Amino acid sequence: MSGSPLKATLPVTDAVQPRLQPDHIPWPQKTPASCPISAVKTRLRTAGLRPTRQRMALGWLLFAKGDRHVSAEMLYEEAIRAREPLSLATVYNTLRQFSEAGLLRQVSVSGPKTFFDTNVSEHHHFYNEEDETVVDIPGSTIQVAGLPDAPEGMEISSVEVIVRLRRADGEETQMRVAGSRHS
Ligand SMILES: [Zn+2]
Repeated sequence: MSGSPLKATLPVTDAVQPRLQPDHIPWPQKTPASCPISAVKTRLRTAGLRPTRQRMALGWLLFAKGDRHVSAEMLYEEAIRAREPLSLATVYNTLRQFSEAGLLRQVSVSGPKTFFDTNVSEHHHFYNEEDETVVDIPGSTIQVAGLPDAPEGMEISSVEVIVRLRRADGEETQMRVAGSRHS
């Protein structure tokens, strides 16, 4: 009689690359020994959100894999694959709540298309128009000169640069600067 293969397969966590950025909120997935589920719960509570089942499910998909840029549609597809019975409207609402609570940062790349970034620190992005993906521009190599004065009673809240990419067929890469302000 042969012994049953009881040796457990341990989850491989080598996909997690610790990326230390000074103003980036540290995430427990960078220390694989901690429990990501309780980390998501703590994260929600700290942001003032009750950890409902739906928020926990989407928070797990969003925050347990390191820095990510996802659209509502992408997250909805992931939820379906994870057998989470969520509607697209719920995904939209939850992403909006997470953004308002400061857990996500919105990155608008073209028209109505919005990505949600789990890295809420100020940084800039490449947008690949070929495959519609958003990635961080590494380091802080971008300096924006000639910013206008904010209108009276307003201040510049942040400046976000999106460098749009397409295949190099001789066409130039277009750069768009998007700033947002609050009073
Ligand atoms: Zn980003």
